Amino acid sequence: MARRPTIAIIGAGFGGIGMAARLLQAGFGDLTVFERGDRVGGVWAANTYPGAACDIPAPLYSFSFAPEPGWSRRYPPQEEIRGYLERTAERLGVLPLVRLGTEVVDARFDDAGRDWVLTLADGGVHRADVLISAAGQLTRPSIPPMPGLADFAGTSFHSATWRHDHDLTGRRVAVVGTGASAIQFVPHVVEQAAHTTLFQREAPHVVPKPDRVYGPRLRTAFRRVPGLLALERLLTYLRLEWRAIGFTRRPELLRVAERMNRQLLTAQVRDPARRAVLTPQGAPGCKRILLSDDYYAALDDPAVEIVTAPITRVLRTGLRTADGADHPADTIIWGTGFTATEFLTPMTVTGASGRELSAAWRHGAEAYLGISVAGFPNFFLLYGPNTNLGHNSIVYMLESQFRYVLGAVRRLTRTGEALDVRPEVQRRFGEWVQGRLAATVWARGCTSWYRTASGRNTQNWPDFTFAYRLRTRRFDASNYTAA
Ligand SMILES: Cc1cc2nc3c(=O)[nH]c(=O)nc-3n(C[C@H](O)[C@H](O)[C@H](O)COP(=O)(O)OP(=O)(O)OC[C@H]3O[C@@H](n4cnc5c(N)ncnc54)[C@H](O)[C@@H]3O)c2cc1C
Repeated sequence: MARRPTIAIIGAGFGGIGMAARLLQAGFGDLTVFERGDRVGGVWAANTYPGAACDIPAPLYSFSFAPEPGWSRRYPPQEEIRGYLERTAERLGVLPLVRLGTEVVDARFDDAGRDWVLTLADGGVHRADVLISAAGQLTRPSIPPMPGLADFAGTSFHSATWRHDHDLTGRRVAVVGTGASAIQFVPHVVEQAAHTTLFQREAPHVVPKPDRVYGPRLRTAFRRVPGLLALERLLTYLRLEWRAIGFTRRPELLRVAERMNRQLLTAQVRDPARRAVLTPQGAPGCKRILLSDDYYAALDDPAVEIVTAPITRVLRTGLRTADGADHPADTIIWGTGFTATEFLTPMTVTGASGRELSAAWRHGAEAYLGISVAGFPNFFLLYGPNTNLGHNSIVYMLESQFRYVLGAVRRLTRTGEALDVRPEVQRRFGEWVQGRLAATVWARGCTSWYRTASGRNTQNWPDFTFAYRLRTRRFDASNYTAA
């Protein structure tokens, strides 16, 4: 390829914005970012529910190449993170390259032209030499298929599509789910609703949130003292990273979270029967460990009922559970998470010789380093299979991927090749990942969004994040065939 390649990126969250910024800095300016939403920010544009905030400290949950001294607190709210992403996209020249409101519905490798042909939801077609998916893992809200869903006469919505026009004041609200989003919005619901019924399948491990306000003096210091913000980032990284030992090697070390959880429960929930219902049973860390100072306190309210019987159907006027009880509700809020394991759907992706990604992934998504899939030349995934974490910042993983993909783009620019990872390299890597996962806390038998219906963990990285950075620090062309 004598000329610089044309590049298409799908998604304008942390992944798409950061990758585009890195490519621009490296001189690859012929790129387009497709975003189906109406603003940039990815999950931080979509999830506007009350209480939404990051649970990794912002100095680390932000780009190392775009440090932000102005965070209001350690765990800032959604709107601050969305604003940061939009500002960063603008400052680094990415914003003009983003086509908002444009969904990619199909991506197909053209064997003859050796480029990618994208079909857009509006029928448009776009061609690019390189295709980078930054479509995220947590963008497709999941509402469990349940009889009677369409019959409900009240208002119902998912936490990722919050109905801000719907006032909860004085209503009977049913909240389904107790995951990372629910524990953030439940205190706000309880404050407004007349009565809250919380449907809990498995009690999560909730531990205190070590939040703190970054006051004006500290923010000025972050701005003025060279290296201070970078030091805060590094210390945060180290404080979180050691926990990888617990998640990936010695789950018994995570018992410390159990102790913290019991103390918090005892301090915030007075009724012993309610405490028992809220006491987690599984291994801490098997499902994400959640941070909150107000979740249990909110559930201590007598206007809250916690239901553990499984929901069997939606009624016109509420929800029915397996014990035959009916639970009236004016509003149902689904805090039921996302279909994370169905990477990239509903988009269809077809590689060389008509190979379909859905077929290649019929036993679960898999990619070499979470980035490359055999048979899909010049196609790179960000935050792809097995690059999610339980203990540290996804942005750190994404930045490792930016560097690796940039290396690949430089290589294919020099040589004009279409790079395709060798199947045996992908297979060996996949075997290593699955072998390692067996020793992790996620293999301790809980149901979680990390695993497919057949039980395969297609989401999580089973090692230290610096081990991932080492593996991805240089593009390893020998593991690829070049056509
Ligand atoms: C509420 C919430 C809180 C979180 N908090 C944290 C945290 O504290 N720390 C942490 O490390 N991680 C957190 N995460 C995980 C989070 O997903 C990642 O940290 C990170 O935001 C992923 O960025 P991304 O760009 O890869 O994906 P996303 O932010 O999901 O962005 C993907 C974008 O791609 C677009 N897209 C997808 N398919 C198409 C298509 N076919 N055509 C066009 N556009 C498309 C989507 O609309 C979306 O805007 C959180 C997730 C959620 C949902």
